[in-house]
Amino acid sequence: MYKKNAWEKYSDEKAFNELNSFNKNYMEFISNAKTERECVIEAIKIAKKAGYKDIKEVSSIKPGDKLYATNMGKNICVFKIGKDKLENGLNILGAHIDSPRIDVKQNPLYERGGFAYLDTHYYGGIVKYQWATIKLALHGVVVKENGDVINVCIGEDENDPVFVITDLLPHLAQDKMQKSAAKAIEGEDLDLTIGSIPFKKDKDSSSVKENIKKILKEKYNIDEEDFVSAELEIVPEGKARELGLDRSMVLGYGHDDRVCAYTSLMAVIDSKDLDRTSVAYLVDKEEIGSVGATGAHSEWFLNLVRELMYLENKENSELNVRRCITNSFMLSSDVSAGYDPLYASVFEDKNASYLGEGLTFNKYTGARGKSGCNDCMPEYMAKVRAIMNNNNIYYQTAELGKVDIGGGGTIAYIMGNMGMNVVDAGVPVMSMHAPYEAVSKVDVYEAYLGYMAFIKDIK
Ligand code: MN
Ligand code: MN
Repeated sequence: MYKKNAWEKYSDEKAFNELNSFNKNYMEFISNAKTERECVIEAIKIAKKAGYKDIKEVSSIKPGDKLYATNMGKNICVFKIGKDKLENGLNILGAHIDSPRIDVKQNPLYERGGFAYLDTHYYGGIVKYQWATIKLALHGVVVKENGDVINVCIGEDENDPVFVITDLLPHLAQDKMQKSAAKAIEGEDLDLTIGSIPFKKDKDSSSVKENIKKILKEKYNIDEEDFVSAELEIVPEGKARELGLDRSMVLGYGHDDRVCAYTSLMAVIDSKDLDRTSVAYLVDKEEIGSVGATGAHSEWFLNLVRELMYLENKENSELNVRRCITNSFMLSSDVSAGYDPLYASVFEDKNASYLGEGLTFNKYTGARGKSGCNDCMPEYMAKVRAIMNNNNIYYQTAELGKVDIGGGGTIAYIMGNMGMNVVDAGVPVMSMHAPYEAVSKVDVYEAYLGYMAFIKDIK
């Protein structure tokens, strides 16, 4: 169903309850998974519960097998093996599990004016001023020289302390208010306040930093130099919540792109009787260009296909691997910019993504003249829309804002470069990249159903 409000599909109580129960599970997922590593951990839990095995534990594969593979703890593939030979291609749902946030620097700890701070470097495209004066939590890992990994999660338990990035009171902000929004709070000003008790070293000197170092050592066994080998992410604290008196939406951190990651994962897990091997491919680093060993540009996915083909027939034919890739179909499951009536002027309303109108397809993304995008084939788009309509999926199409304003990318072009048919398909998000983003429950559920229809039917 093209460009119709999807709530009409959920007017009866049974359908409405199904939609709500799926969203409840999704809210739990994003509340527990606020970093890439935590997403991988949660995805493994869900997969194992559904009978999936680590690919390392198997020596051959057959139709119906359920497998997962992880890469450095930061990306994961969940596979359901189909009846068709791998050479004939995979059906792939590819989403990213990194979200915009603020990272702790390598040498972060300092003291100024009676406060201890952690210096930071933001990750991905954030509107910096949105991250001040809100409760923040610290998630991540600190790796000791001997390889011991200390898992850090401070600020989520109600008995935990939280952290904050301070901002200037309006009474003294006359000069600051004249600055552009981009300059109101600059990158180097996004430092996290973490303490204020001076530890008396001797009767003439005191140090808040020394006291923080003592707490880090005693409570977490973290020495100052350990920050060198740490990955600490500053994220909004707290759980995702229902939004609106009618509870129609979900407000939470990291919908981009965990909403498509979760729905893709569940689509593979809940699908039955698949003809083609289907994959939820959840990657890291999309927000900073998909680079590095755990991003979509990494060779890891291709290596995994090589492993799978070896498990299928003990052959190692590079030609067959390449055939598999070019015969594959993919939805790049990534979010769209939800149309915001309060900022209508940046959208072109015929080609915008509306909360409530279901799964959004972006035939192309790119910026100002489609630059750098994967403009998918109309032949492929035709197949995909037929599947949506045949399965009564509510779907819409969009671009990211007006032609000369918009811009954005996803992992679509990376898989497209390998010679695969790919189109972007995801959930519309309001206030994207803000500490708390909003999605409509009905779009979350339609995305899940749409992804299931895609992996079942595309060939
Ligand atoms: Mn995204
Ligand atoms: Mn993004």
